[in-house]
Amino acid sequence: MSTFSDNKKPHAVLIPYPAQGHINPLFKLAKLLHFRGFHITFVNTEYNHKRLQKSRGSNALDGFTDFCFETLRDGLTPTEGDDGDVTQDIPSLCKSIMNNFHQSFGELLARLHDSSIAGLVPPVTCLVSDCCMPFTIQAAEQHALPILLFFPASACALLSILHSRTLIEKGLIPLKDESYLRNGYLDTKVDCIPGLYNLRLKDLPDFIRTTDPNDIMLQFLIHVADRVHRDSTIILNTFDELESDVLQALCSMVPSLYNIGPLPSLLNQIGPNHLASLGSNLWKEDTNCLDWLELKEPESVVYVNFGSITVMTPEQLLEFAWGLANSKKPFLWIIRPDLVIGGSVILSSEFVNKISNRGLISSWCPQEKVLNHPSIGGFLTHCGWNSATESICAGVPMLCWPFFADQPTNCKFICNTWDIGIEIDTNVKRENVEKLINELMSGDKGKKMRQNVTELKSKAYENTGPGGCSYMNLDKVIKEVMLKK
Ligand code: UDP
Repeated sequence: MSTFSDNKKPHAVLIPYPAQGHINPLFKLAKLLHFRGFHITFVNTEYNHKRLQKSRGSNALDGFTDFCFETLRDGLTPTEGDDGDVTQDIPSLCKSIMNNFHQSFGELLARLHDSSIAGLVPPVTCLVSDCCMPFTIQAAEQHALPILLFFPASACALLSILHSRTLIEKGLIPLKDESYLRNGYLDTKVDCIPGLYNLRLKDLPDFIRTTDPNDIMLQFLIHVADRVHRDSTIILNTFDELESDVLQALCSMVPSLYNIGPLPSLLNQIGPNHLASLGSNLWKEDTNCLDWLELKEPESVVYVNFGSITVMTPEQLLEFAWGLANSKKPFLWIIRPDLVIGGSVILSSEFVNKISNRGLISSWCPQEKVLNHPSIGGFLTHCGWNSATESICAGVPMLCWPFFADQPTNCKFICNTWDIGIEIDTNVKRENVEKLINELMSGDKGKKMRQNVTELKSKAYENTGPGGCSYMNLDKVIKEVMLKK
């Protein structure tokens, strides 16, 4: 920790949920706050901090003025086969967040207090915590600190989570038995959540797809929802035009709501090169794919990436592989080392010959740079909220294969409300992949979706530019909450 000369700076401590899709957007917010004059402490778990050091180089996180890293213990014992470079088991993390993290966080706040007394850092003035790390709320109360709750997914996902008890009271969840997953029950329209229109149970985040009232994910989300109150302050990575009805409904539950998204374009407009060398990817990025993209025609390449948590069977991987090969379109496919259940799949020489240099496979990439490359024409995605918003900010239409959590909800909005994507059936088949890739890249529907996403991109930039709603909300939340004495 470096000696700090100006002890008057406001000091924000940011705590993401320990998974890539939560760390990245909060990291952007940390850069924005730093740009606005805050001293930043960014808090990862020890596990993820090690990964960050490994992926970026051991000294890559040191030496930034007023931007420091701290760690929390996650309370998990390493599982077999965990080489220290995978997304940890989500239910185990959630259980540990409910039971273990508060102690380690209390110790961290005490350490930061001692450092401030010693004049090494300014006193902590505010916590910015992921909604999914709710132990921070009690800590904020104990230390009389203002706290902002950051929700990294869509407003719709948050509204559904805040209504989890409503869904239980109405008897809609948990499901009566396993057959309810297949008997059409999930097509039931949700009409008990104000602000949600034309959504079916199957479009809600998948925590509802359980028969067990004690299911960890269901319990965790109830635990989160119970800790959000009318007087909480929430920041969302979305913007008005994307989710206006939902935002209105949320606002009547939590009036102090600030949507400041999409964060990629907010950061691009406020401080595009600010702390540019400081990244948050937990896997090492392969940048060769950017050189490869240079050789391709504009809007000709399909970019395929299923994010940091999705897994699939070897059979599903082969269906995607052959669908891509048979589409005859160039593609860049990111196959994470832990993407395939049970280990890796060897792609046959027949496949390799068929794609020759038309396809490039890599293990992790700088996704935003890839999406913004002029050669990219479409994105085959699992519909993580960051991937969806990054795709909108880049003006790239999508093919959607949602996997879990809020991804079915995002998929529904992408395909039906905004008309910027087409869904691929869960039971993925190569013929279907081939057909939809062709539709996306060269069909009439693809053209229409490209127009729609280009319009949404300009709305995103209007919202996050000077005078735009998200732009002004960032300044408001800083003034009204973070700097309030
Ligand atoms: N990402 C990346 N390179 C990759 C894959 C993912 O930089 O090869 C980033 C991506 O830009 C996004 C995050 O990882 O910011 C993934 O978050 P998302 O919400 O899309 O999905 P999740 O990983 O949470 O399922």
